[in-house]
Amino acid sequence: MKVCKFGGTSMATAESVLAVKKIIESDSARKLVVVSAPGKRFKTDDKITDLLYAAYEEKLKYGVPGAALEEVCIRFEVLAAALNLDIDIREYIEEIETNLIESKTPDYIASRGEYLSAVVMAALLNYKFIDAGDIIKFRYDGSFDAELTRDLVSQLKNLDTGAVIPGFYGRMPDKSIKTFTRGGSDVTGAIIAGGVDSSLYENWTDVNGFMACDPNIVDNPKLIETISYQELRELSYMGANVLHPDSIFPIYSVGIPIVIKNTFNPMAQGTKILKNVEEFLRPVVTGIAGKKNNTVLTLTKSMMNSELGFGRKVLSVLERNGVSFEHIPTGIDAMSIVIAGVLQDELANKLIQDIKGAVNPDTLDISTSLALIAIVGHGMANRKGTAAKICNALFSADINIRMIDQGSSEMNVIVGVEDSDYIKAINALYKAFF
Ligand code: ASP
Repeated sequence: MKVCKFGGTSMATAESVLAVKKIIESDSARKLVVVSAPGKRFKTDDKITDLLYAAYEEKLKYGVPGAALEEVCIRFEVLAAALNLDIDIREYIEEIETNLIESKTPDYIASRGEYLSAVVMAALLNYKFIDAGDIIKFRYDGSFDAELTRDLVSQLKNLDTGAVIPGFYGRMPDKSIKTFTRGGSDVTGAIIAGGVDSSLYENWTDVNGFMACDPNIVDNPKLIETISYQELRELSYMGANVLHPDSIFPIYSVGIPIVIKNTFNPMAQGTKILKNVEEFLRPVVTGIAGKKNNTVLTLTKSMMNSELGFGRKVLSVLERNGVSFEHIPTGIDAMSIVIAGVLQDELANKLIQDIKGAVNPDTLDISTSLALIAIVGHGMANRKGTAAKICNALFSADINIRMIDQGSSEMNVIVGVEDSDYIKAINALYKAFF
C-alpha cells in the first residue's frame, strides 16, 4: 500500500486534478490519498488557504466573512463543475460560514480548504472520504498525540476501498480543529504512511524533486537523486521548501522511503529520501540552503569565560520569553546568540532588558541582517578540505564570513554572512561543490 500526497498546485485546476486522477489510477497500490487545498493557478493567484485566513480576518472586522469566502466558494464550484461532479459546494460554504459566525477559530476556517479538496477528490476517484479530524489527534495542550493517532490510522489498513484524507489538520479532545504549521499536509501524509506501514510515501508536487540549491537563486541547479532523512531535515529547516521539515518524525522509526515526484512530469524519477544513504551514493555535499534576516545578539563582558553560570543565565532569559536559538558562537569574553528571523520590537527590547538584568554585560548589540547558509552532506564526515573549500569559495567571491559553525556530527556547516551577500554566497558555494 502506498500513501500519496498531492500538493496545492496539483489540486488547483480541473486539468491538474485530472492529472492526479490518472497518476492514482495507474498504480493499484495508490490506495490512500492525502490532499492539500488548491494552490495558485497562476503566479498572481491566491491560495485557497490564504483566502480562508482572509475570510477569518474579515469576520473579525465585520462580524461576517465576506468576499474572500465567496471567492473560495466560486473556486470550488468552478472546479467541481469542470470535473462534472454533482457536489453542492454552496451548501458546504454556508455551513462553514455559520460555524465561523458562531466563533470558530482560524484553524477551523484554514482547514476547510483541505476538507473541500478531499471531498472533490474522493468523489472524482470514487474513493471513501475520511475526515482527518477523526484520525489525526492532538492532546489538550496542543501537542500531537502520536499514539492515539497511530492506533486510529492503522485501521485504514483494513479498508477495502481507496480513501482520500484532507491534509493539514486534526482534532483536539474538545473536538475543535487544530492545524499543523503552513505546508502541514506533508506532515499528514507522513503520519498516514507511518500509521499504515506504507511501503512508500509519495509526495507529489510541482517540481521534479529536491534541487541542490534554490532554483530562484542558482540557475538550473542539479537535482538531488537520493538524500537522507537527516540531510533533508537540515535543508528544509534552512528554507528549502519542497517538503515540510516535520515530515520525517512520523516515519523515522519505521524508515519508510519518501519520493518527491512531479504531478506535471510523472515520468521524471524525482528525489528519493531514505533513512540511510549508502556510502557510495554520498557526494561530499548533498545540498545548500539558507535564509536571510536572522537576529544576532552579541554580548561582551570582561572575564566572561570565568563567570560560572553566565551562559545558563542568558539562555534562561530566552527560555522565559519563549525564544529558541539556532547557534551560540562564543569567544573568551564574547557570546553571540543567533535567533531565526526578526524579532518584534517589543520582544527584542524585553530580551535586551532581561539579559542586562540577568548578567550585566559590558556591551549588548542586536543586529538583524545575518543570512545563514547550511552546506549539508554526510559525505563531509571524516573527509578533509570541506571547510577550506567553503572559506575559499567565499573569500574568492569577496564575501566576509560573520559566523561559522560545524557540529561534530560533521554533516552540516553553517556560515553566517551579511544579508546583502546572501545570493552571491549561495552561488559561490554552489559553484565550488557542484
Ligand atoms: N494548505 C496549507 C498551506 O497552504 C497546507 C498545505 O498545503 O500543506 O499551508
